[in-house]
Amino acid sequence: MDMNTACIHAGYQAGNGEPRNLPIALSTTFPYDSTEEVARLFDLTEDGFFYSRIANPTCDACEKKIAALEGGVGALLTSSGQAANLIAVLNIASAGDHIVASSTIYGGTVNLFSVTLKRFGIDVTYVSPRSTPEELAAAVRPTTRAFFGETVANPALAVLDIEKFAAAAHAAGVPLIVDNTFPTPVLCRPFEWGADIVTHSTTKYMDGQARIVGGAIVDSGRFDWAASGRYPELTEPDESYHGVVYTRDFGAAAYIVKARVQLMRDLGAYPPATNAFLLNESLETLPLRMAQHVKNARAVAAWLQGQPGIAAVHSPELESDPDHGLAEKYLPNGCCGVISFEMEGGREKAAALLDHLKLARIEVHVADSQTCVLHPASSTHRQLTDEQLAAAGVEPGLVRLSCGLESADDIIADLGQALEAVA
Ligand SMILES: *Cc1c(COP(=O)(O)O)cnc(C)c1O
Repeated sequence: MDMNTACIHAGYQAGNGEPRNLPIALSTTFPYDSTEEVARLFDLTEDGFFYSRIANPTCDACEKKIAALEGGVGALLTSSGQAANLIAVLNIASAGDHIVASSTIYGGTVNLFSVTLKRFGIDVTYVSPRSTPEELAAAVRPTTRAFFGETVANPALAVLDIEKFAAAAHAAGVPLIVDNTFPTPVLCRPFEWGADIVTHSTTKYMDGQARIVGGAIVDSGRFDWAASGRYPELTEPDESYHGVVYTRDFGAAAYIVKARVQLMRDLGAYPPATNAFLLNESLETLPLRMAQHVKNARAVAAWLQGQPGIAAVHSPELESDPDHGLAEKYLPNGCCGVISFEMEGGREKAAALLDHLKLARIEVHVADSQTCVLHPASSTHRQLTDEQLAAAGVEPGLVRLSCGLESADDIIADLGQALEAVA
């Protein structure tokens, strides 16, 4: 199935006389006739639903669709993007371990890594996405368990050189985890460039209508955990499942099966079936929506570049952008609908501009059907130190603009009247 078809049909196809739409299995549990059968489910020797904290038929169909879109062997839905990145890392890192992350990643992920994972005893080293291969190699320790980056960073819009990061990770015997939230698989499929695990905040374009917070982890099935020798949690018996060995018993799906049956079982961050139903429905229109977001972002960025009062416009799609070459390579059909710009006059001018916008609302959100704006330095990134702000590529006068699905002319007219008002 190509992308357009998979967005509609992957994961669920109605059988003869069955519901055309994915049914919502609003059920916590699934009854069985024999204790034998339930025992086999608990030993993971038989496949089947038994409790909706671990798996649910509606979620399962949506997971299969997302796995198909990314080209992975399996996916796990989570209750948020935060939970996706948490579980993606915890699945292969424990106290005493270490991860290497690109410094431009989402502020929420920086908090997760620098505050909470640190309290769990997992250390993180941040590296510039522009690091040389030698610099990336120098960040590796004997305890390193993963590299992490975002295809298109929120909100810095830096493009990850996926091949370079994958090569550095693989040379160290560890996988590359890529948060692919902004491009979605419609615009970039990180597995095709060497990434091993992909995560998503489905809250953004995948839902696309600002209805449901959610996340997903996708496993490429290509990382050789046994060959690496660094992952006893995958290659040695799990006593909580009568000695299951994930790599031996689940082969290419070892990572994603363990994430579900061990971590999701214990952490309980699984979404309800209703959310998976809505997400699955949203995914049907993802290619159409991404094309319109990209078209609008291009038109607005081009217009902003010529406006007085604008110090800089950032989008990897602009030729002036340092990541333009990377964008052409990894994102030939566009990066996403999010761009950013810097106001002359810094923090105060940026805040004043936002107060004058009418169509574009101030929202702690991006990547949905309605155009919205945010001033990161006073909101999402206010907990970061100046040094961290600089490392994340966030200037005080930076405005993040998420171009929705409205007409580009109306978005531009709104920006125009607000720029005039603050001139
Ligand atoms: C929003 C976001 C997250 C966090 O996702 P939630 O669904 O808000 O928990 C993680 N990574 C990126 C790139 C994001 O944009």
